[in-house]
Amino acid sequence: MEPAKIKTISINTLNIPLEEPFTIAIGTKYNIENVLITIVLESGIEGYGEAAPLEPINGENQATVLATLNSCKDFLIGKDVSGYRQISTHLKSVFWAQITARCAIEMAILDAYTKSLDIPLYKFLGGAKNKIETDYTIDIVSPATAKINAGKLSRRGYNTIKTKVGKNLIEDIDRILAIKDGAPNCGIMIDANQGYSPCEAVHFLEELEKNNIRPVLFEQPVVKQDLQGMKFVKNNTSIPIAADESVFTAADAIEIVRTGCADLINIKIMKSGIIEALDIATIARNANIGLMIGCMLETKLGLGCSVHFAAGLGGFNFVDLDPHLDPGKDPFSGGPEFKEPFYSISNSKAGIGILKK
Ligand SMILES: [Mg+2]
Repeated sequence: MEPAKIKTISINTLNIPLEEPFTIAIGTKYNIENVLITIVLESGIEGYGEAAPLEPINGENQATVLATLNSCKDFLIGKDVSGYRQISTHLKSVFWAQITARCAIEMAILDAYTKSLDIPLYKFLGGAKNKIETDYTIDIVSPATAKINAGKLSRRGYNTIKTKVGKNLIEDIDRILAIKDGAPNCGIMIDANQGYSPCEAVHFLEELEKNNIRPVLFEQPVVKQDLQGMKFVKNNTSIPIAADESVFTAADAIEIVRTGCADLINIKIMKSGIIEALDIATIARNANIGLMIGCMLETKLGLGCSVHFAAGLGGFNFVDLDPHLDPGKDPFSGGPEFKEPFYSISNSKAGIGILKK
């Protein structure tokens, strides 16, 4: 194979208003404020990578991502993308806290590399399947709105609805009852985004049980550092518990295994980068811990990369890759085809398959 060296790099902001403000226990977002990195190989092949920083989750914002990516330019120019693991290891050693910026670089490099190999990214990652089903998230809204939205999602074909809780226990239960009312045949996933104490989390599940509601999954009930608190929740319910904010690194995943505090790990490439996400998946699998894949507020590019990741590796019990952008406002086209609630990947497109509009 010809060398696939990086010739030029460009960095651009991705500022897009959301259709609806998105509220979770740690705050409200009105816009996507992400960053796009484009690398061009000497062959002319382009690779695209997106960073989706969310300060309360990963400690980065658009300004820190721009600064990090600009700082990496000199190091990256001239590098052969076939050496993507060494590039990733070096960048982690220097910019260890700038995870979404590193994720964008890994995404662009893997996109360009698999294009130069002329295979779709999911095939490069294992090619387990080319179709996956996602849930859809209803954020923290009034019960009346939640009921209407749940009915719409059910009619659109979704089988699982995820909702965010952790702000107010009584309102949380009212909203879940409203979702059940609006979509009685859908499974309900619950994500507290660290919003409960261990006792509140168990009380919350008890109240749901009194109302004959059994969630299919309960994600990150307590603060990320409190693995013993998460273990208390797990020991007091038969509902599967997922660790999300508690796992950014492979070392974090090992701690989950050691503590025995979760049934699943929610992998997000914006928490760990793509290469470290491979390690996390391996650790989880070998410890008999289930896998989930999630996302931040991302365009078709970031979401498409995660679809390739989950489809390529296979074995993901839950997929939470729901788009929150109007496709007309998305700056990209192509990529995995989305027909609610399924993503399918064409074998005729190399890389992530994304095009700039
Ligand atoms: Mg979560």
